[in-house]
Amino acid sequence: MYLDVNEGFERLTGWHRDEVIGKTSLEISVWHSTADRKRLVERLQRDGFCENLEATFARKDGSTLTGLMSAKGVEIKGEPCILSITRDISHLRQTESSLLKLSLAVEQSPNTIVITDLDAHIEYANKAFTHVTGYSLDEVIGQNPNILQSGMTPKATYEDMWAHLTVGKAWHGELTNKRKDGSIYIEAATLSPVRQADGRITHYLAVKENITDRKMDEARIEQLANFDHLTNLPNRRMLNERLNYAISLAQRNDEKLAVMFIDLDNFQNINDSLGHNIGDRYLIEIANRLKQTVRDEDTVSRLGGDEFILVFPAVNADDAALIAGKLLAAIARPCLIEQHELINSASIGIALYPDDGQTLDELVKNADTAMNRLKQSSRNDYCFFTQEMQAHSVRNAQLVTALRQALARNELQLHYQPQVSLLDGRVIGAEALLRWRHPELGVVSPAEFIPLAEENGLIIPIGEWVLRTAARQMQQWLAAGLPDMVIAVNLSAIQFRQPKLPETVSQILEATGLSADHLELELTEAVAMDDPQAAVAMMDKLHERGIRLSIDDFGTGYSSLSYLKRFKVYKLKIDQSFVRDLTDDPEDKAIVTAIINLASSLGMHTIAEGVETAGQLAYLRLQGCDEVQGYYFSKPLPATEFETYLQQHSA
Ligand code: C2E
Ligand code: MG
Ligand code: MG
Repeated sequence: MYLDVNEGFERLTGWHRDEVIGKTSLEISVWHSTADRKRLVERLQRDGFCENLEATFARKDGSTLTGLMSAKGVEIKGEPCILSITRDISHLRQTESSLLKLSLAVEQSPNTIVITDLDAHIEYANKAFTHVTGYSLDEVIGQNPNILQSGMTPKATYEDMWAHLTVGKAWHGELTNKRKDGSIYIEAATLSPVRQADGRITHYLAVKENITDRKMDEARIEQLANFDHLTNLPNRRMLNERLNYAISLAQRNDEKLAVMFIDLDNFQNINDSLGHNIGDRYLIEIANRLKQTVRDEDTVSRLGGDEFILVFPAVNADDAALIAGKLLAAIARPCLIEQHELINSASIGIALYPDDGQTLDELVKNADTAMNRLKQSSRNDYCFFTQEMQAHSVRNAQLVTALRQALARNELQLHYQPQVSLLDGRVIGAEALLRWRHPELGVVSPAEFIPLAEENGLIIPIGEWVLRTAARQMQQWLAAGLPDMVIAVNLSAIQFRQPKLPETVSQILEATGLSADHLELELTEAVAMDDPQAAVAMMDKLHERGIRLSIDDFGTGYSSLSYLKRFKVYKLKIDQSFVRDLTDDPEDKAIVTAIINLASSLGMHTIAEGVETAGQLAYLRLQGCDEVQGYYFSKPLPATEFETYLQQHSA
């Protein structure tokens, strides 16, 4: 029972003096745990006093405090009483516990933590530090952290660091350091001055994270982003950077600069016949040869596939020709991969700054144009870009733009050229030939615009339009009672490679009402022989639908007899180049005779195109050619004129 309490009691417990006098400590629940009270009672009974008992007390509001209690048995007016004094040590205990937590956190942090005095002597280092550096605590306490310096961190970094620290500011940066065993690692570091409560700086604190792995990843990502993974040559992106830089230098120094576009001539063959693995190793070998042939300041890059772009700073046309010759020789040297000896060549297009282009895109494009032009005529050579090619590519760009609108603007038209049977002189068919008349560009030859349309996919809608228009026209003629005829339509390589071609043709036949046996598709020999296996498969599918095929320009495409036998083809069209000099050239005579004999032994018909004279006609008839087509009978005619022609010649 409390006899009296002081102000300190009131402050500590929240109870007012009047509330507690006459009550026991149990009644006001001042003990948070009765075990503490028990310990007090035991000590008092044993010793008559108790010193510094640490106990937890409850306040009036239920909150707790840690107190240090001393108590003593006394006699007041002959009665035994207890005098107790309690000091609140909650704050002390809290500080202790948070200090403990803090030191554990520092000690166990995965980051290295070092504390130095102002002279940079290490006073403290945590476990991570010993782990990362390989030094024991004994070895580093009292040392300067510069024992970690690798010599690879730029001097400016340290200067910057001290510039911050000496004015009391924190510093962040990257340090390349050295472990005890000499290995190198990279750290992201934060160094800061440690201030006392009065603002005095007494220590430096370093918290550092090992970022070696992250840096390696960054380097790897950098490598991936800028270099071709197969050959390790700079890729397009890196090339852009280098070329832009080279252009700016050339501009400043008033120098020339050469850009070369190299395309390997028969790489596809190597890949197809020996597999990608050998193909890849071949490319790596070529990449190495190219690099060895040029100087360090030149750039050799790979754009993918078998195309390389090279940049030569401070090089004029003569130098470029010399270098190109060396590169061709380096590529042409036989190359041994596993047991295969590979011999190949390349075609090089060259564009010079500033004459052939001012910008990266222009230079690369023009070098590419020169390379492509070269490939059309020969191989294993180099070729400079010329103004004539420039004019050509400008016209091509114009044509492509115009061609995109040709269909919508109704600028396309079909002409029909009669095909005549040599048996009885009847017109047995017509070849549909595309015509394009542009309001400004005039009449453009299909020989010029069809390859362009093929390059950018325009041939697909145009080809479909031709098929539909030709089929509809023939159906109208047949319905109008014109003699039974077949319409021949030229098919582009691109169309022929479309898997849905048979479907498209069937749909058009259905839509126009023309029966399949009135349509014949002309496929050039070169296309059929480009990928003969695929050609056989496509021909089979068309054949299944009753669609007839003929091989156009036959004699120019090096047909393999074994494939020709498997082609489901109805007719061979003897190329006009053999017909032209037929009456004078014994060789052409022999070829034409051979083709006719070949066709008849394979069960195919023959038609000769480009027949212009009676002499040619007589020879073809003599050899047993089935049909003819050419100016001797008629030029390709617009539909109405073709009708008139038919009326005059079917009597
Ligand atoms: P091609 O299929 O071999 O067509 C024969 C070419 O020879 C046509 O030229 C025709 O007008 C021409 N020709 C016909 N008879 C004679 C003659 O007696 N003497 C001479 N010197 N030439 C004659 P065109 O119309 O300029 O077509 C050229 C090429 O363009 C065609 O060669 C064909 O490969 C292509 N082509 C034409 N129309 C189309 C089409 O609709 N689609 C596709 N993919 N190509 C087409
Ligand atoms: Mg044709
Ligand atoms: Mg032809």
